[in-house]
Amino acid sequence: MSSFRIGGIMKQRYLIFDLDNTLYPKESGLLKQIDRQIDGFIKRTLKVPETEVSKLRRYYWKNYGTTLGGMVACHNINPLDYIKEAYNVDVAAFLKPDPYLSEILSKLDLKKAVFSNSPLEYVEEVLEVLKIRSFFEKIYDIQFCNYLGKPNQSSYFKVLSDLGIEGKDCLLLDDTPANVIGGEKAGITSILYGDAPADGIKWRIYNYAELPGIITKIQAQTA
Ligand SMILES: [Mg+2]
Repeated sequence: MSSFRIGGIMKQRYLIFDLDNTLYPKESGLLKQIDRQIDGFIKRTLKVPETEVSKLRRYYWKNYGTTLGGMVACHNINPLDYIKEAYNVDVAAFLKPDPYLSEILSKLDLKKAVFSNSPLEYVEEVLEVLKIRSFFEKIYDIQFCNYLGKPNQSSYFKVLSDLGIEGKDCLLLDDTPANVIGGEKAGITSILYGDAPADGIKWRIYNYAELPGIITKIQAQTA
């Protein structure tokens, strides 16, 4: 059985969450710290001046989806060296348990998974610190996606195939517009989280209080 109908309403079975700046607030500064460490890694490894780093990162995002994907494809770097340096952070110094998010997650009648462009050990640590690890049946990280990740289409399909479902059987929540658009391309009804520009994006929430309502709305419309 894939998706199923209750009283004429199409019900998705899974809700797939992005991690960074989606399951924790961007104001925490955690992702900014990781970004600074990525910048440092690029500067040192490629021996480029500070001013070149952001240009390079934009080029990698545009052409390879992620900075790591670009660094591997263009410079054959060892992804494990990159991960070790970029994610060497004290997560607990940036985040604290989120009982409100726990409450929302506990009320959602959908199976839950995390699909992140970050590495597994770090994803697990973030979920533990937030005290929401137990809600998620599956975690998909950048290594699972062969260091490609969102918004590369192959990564969405690898996740769907592992879950044994099709795009129509799940929803995606992500704060990055490109990843939301990528999800839609893969056939997943995808919701933008937060205040990023949403050109061409149909569904958006600004906070978790809006999540149950938008799911009800989507399920009514896709019936
Ligand atoms: Mg994110």
